[in-house]
Amino acid sequence: SNQYDVIIIGAGAAGLMCAATAGYRGRKVLVLDHANKPGKKILMSGGGRCNFINLNSTPANFLSDNPRFCISALKRYTPQHFLDLVERHGIEHEEKAAGQLFCKDSAKDIVTMLLTECEWAGAEIRMKTSVKGIAQEAEHYRVKTGSGTLLCESLVIACGGLSIPTMGATGFGYEIARQFGLTVLPTRAGLVPFTLHPELKQQLAPLSGVSCPVDAACNNQHFREPMLVTHRGLSGPSMLQISSFWHPGDPLRINLLPERNIREDLASLRKQKPQSTVAQYLAQHLPKRFAQAFNELYGWQGPLQAYKNIDLEQIADTLGQWTVKPAGTEGYRTAEVTLGGVDTRQLSSKTMAALDHPNLYFIGEVVDVTGHLGGHNFNWAWASGVAAGQSA
Ligand code: FAD
Repeated sequence: SNQYDVIIIGAGAAGLMCAATAGYRGRKVLVLDHANKPGKKILMSGGGRCNFINLNSTPANFLSDNPRFCISALKRYTPQHFLDLVERHGIEHEEKAAGQLFCKDSAKDIVTMLLTECEWAGAEIRMKTSVKGIAQEAEHYRVKTGSGTLLCESLVIACGGLSIPTMGATGFGYEIARQFGLTVLPTRAGLVPFTLHPELKQQLAPLSGVSCPVDAACNNQHFREPMLVTHRGLSGPSMLQISSFWHPGDPLRINLLPERNIREDLASLRKQKPQSTVAQYLAQHLPKRFAQAFNELYGWQGPLQAYKNIDLEQIADTLGQWTVKPAGTEGYRTAEVTLGGVDTRQLSSKTMAALDHPNLYFIGEVVDVTGHLGGHNFNWAWASGVAAGQSA
């Protein structure tokens, strides 16, 4: 009774998907997790509504040291496959932004769906079970838990990354990878808000809660999405997205008026309404509080007719390429994902098994595949889970 065909460590998005897939193939499946309930991150995702897929996902939406690795699994289990599953379970959903599908009611619906699938597939889930260690013996793996030792033919590591430790995240998956001789690429927090140095934080304090659409750039990447000033620093979709490409010390270049040609706007305003001010121009195009604070920050005063061309160019540069050097990020405490992880060069892109250990699988966030914001990370969790579930 302590012998299984497949043991999966981690009852998150990837682990549950893998469990149902392997169970439907008639495999005897057990999922182990140390948390008190399964799918905790799914429950908190998408502000409690779970952005469960992105229909417009392409390989360009993923970061990895080996960018082509994710293509095969994502092609075989597409967002449409997951959407079909969601619709078969009668879960109401809505498209909030292009391709981003969310539950209409609650992320709980997705967890319930996955647990139902696991039940129908005969996969057993054991929560509050800590795994003390793994050993390989001839034809099977020996999984030592707090409540006894279990045996399995295939072992799937689905224990996620390091983000949000309070939700049960651990580095256990990386430890197992290293134990079996796999390389773990350096990890860092991704999709995470930035913190600011005290002076800028103080200057932006009056803007806390203000959001505006910007174009944020760093290291040859840019995202045109809203930015939110918070009491801790800079957040909102554009900041979370660009954080995945940021390294300590890098400046961010933020275009505060990405829809405008600022230099031309100011020159024509100076010609047509010479008495108008920079403050009035900003108030037309930015949220009021933001316009005021920015104008105060840079001290633009007096009518535009008093400004020379070079002054207008400087203002256009300041607004179009506002340069911010973040102090850091909020780190794993609030990061949505962990970048880096198990090096995919040592895994099969078809099955997710380790090339040197054909019955040992790594899926989901523990692997060095990280999606952009907007449902891509779940696309990867489902697709990699299914790939392993079809093979384990
Ligand atoms: P997880 O879902 O993290 O599951 C790992 C499981 O392993 C957990 O249940 C954990 O308890 C267990 N575990 C860990 N260590 C051990 C151990 N030592 N022993 C036993 N069990 C262990 N992505 C999207 O695509 N759309 C979104 O809307 C979205 N919103 C998010 C919001 C937040 C706040 C966060 C933090 C993330 C969000 N993500 C979103 C990212 C997404 O949640 C992850 O990419 C996804 O959950 C990864 O799935 P996983 O199965 O690999 O890992």
